[in-house]
Amino acid sequence: MSASFINDRDFHDFLTAMLRAVPVYGPVAKRSGFVFERLTSADELRLDYDVTVLPPKKLFFPPAQDLVRFRGPEFQSCVEPLEKILLGVHFYDVKAIDQTDLLFSERNFDVNYMAHRQCTTIVASNVQTVSKRAFFASVGPEIEPRGHDASLTKITGGYVLEMRTPKGEALLEHGRFEPASAQQLDAAKKVNADILKRCPEALEHSSAEIAAKVRAAFGNEDLWSELAADCFSCGSCNTVCPTCYCFDVQDAWNVDQVSGQRTRYWDACLTEDFAKITIAGGASENFREERGERFRHRFMRKASYLNEKLGGPACVGCGRCSAACTADIADPVHVINKIMAL
Ligand code: SF4
Ligand code: SF4
Repeated sequence: MSASFINDRDFHDFLTAMLRAVPVYGPVAKRSGFVFERLTSADELRLDYDVTVLPPKKLFFPPAQDLVRFRGPEFQSCVEPLEKILLGVHFYDVKAIDQTDLLFSERNFDVNYMAHRQCTTIVASNVQTVSKRAFFASVGPEIEPRGHDASLTKITGGYVLEMRTPKGEALLEHGRFEPASAQQLDAAKKVNADILKRCPEALEHSSAEIAAKVRAAFGNEDLWSELAADCFSCGSCNTVCPTCYCFDVQDAWNVDQVSGQRTRYWDACLTEDFAKITIAGGASENFREERGERFRHRFMRKASYLNEKLGGPACVGCGRCSAACTADIADPVHVINKIMAL
């Protein structure tokens, strides 16, 4: 891994050159928050953002994604991957992308996700502002982000760019970089370590302890009913989550009743119909009918079930779910610390 430095004065030119060469997506201000969007100018980039409303996974796994167009028995893929740079991804969102990379490739290689993912150069950036509900320092601290091609850290006077892959190295051609000095690398390391001390919330136990205790609480129906008592079943906690990856597939037929398209949509396990299935005779069965059952399922997935496959929790501590929940009951820190105290 090599590392370079670019001063503040040249950074703007670096961004502008990149934007001219390739589509660049990054965090921009929108209304009262931040979103990942395609940049039209270097001035739009807000590397001082706290957290984006939706995670960057939307670029590989959009909320609504056309999969195929069909006409009778003939069909054609809708996947049209675009070479691009995704700039300014915080480390917790890189960890979330690492999870979706695994989950969309481990058994059935999901070409609809992977085609978009493989043509993207990811540049991480250090967290400059911590969001009000973040707890990324205390969740899975043993897991390192690894899916990015380079990482950018703001230090006094400029930025340190650490390259991890040839795609990361290729970024250097866009700017006036110089090799980073030992002092600049130390400064970047300190910046990234110091931010971890500024999370407003924290889990109080290790991932393994949490996984075991949350799993042991499965049968405590009263607990889950109480935790979910104010739940609206809106699914917002799922929708904003960078590690949620459930989807629903629907076919839409054109009026000719011969052609149409197949589209997949984000799904949400907290919604009432998520686990509803049709059975014989047009009847249906919902195997997570109660709010408490659905609430429990989310926490089992985030804190326990997926740990063996992922090597840690299916939560990266971004705090988006806590902020998105109108009832303010979705915060993993509150729920998990409560279970751990039982
Ligand atoms: S469960 Fe909440 S805090 Fe954890 S990754 Fe998902 S949105 Fe972020
Ligand atoms: S926990 Fe909150 S965000 Fe999630 S479904 Fe219930 S009310 Fe909506």
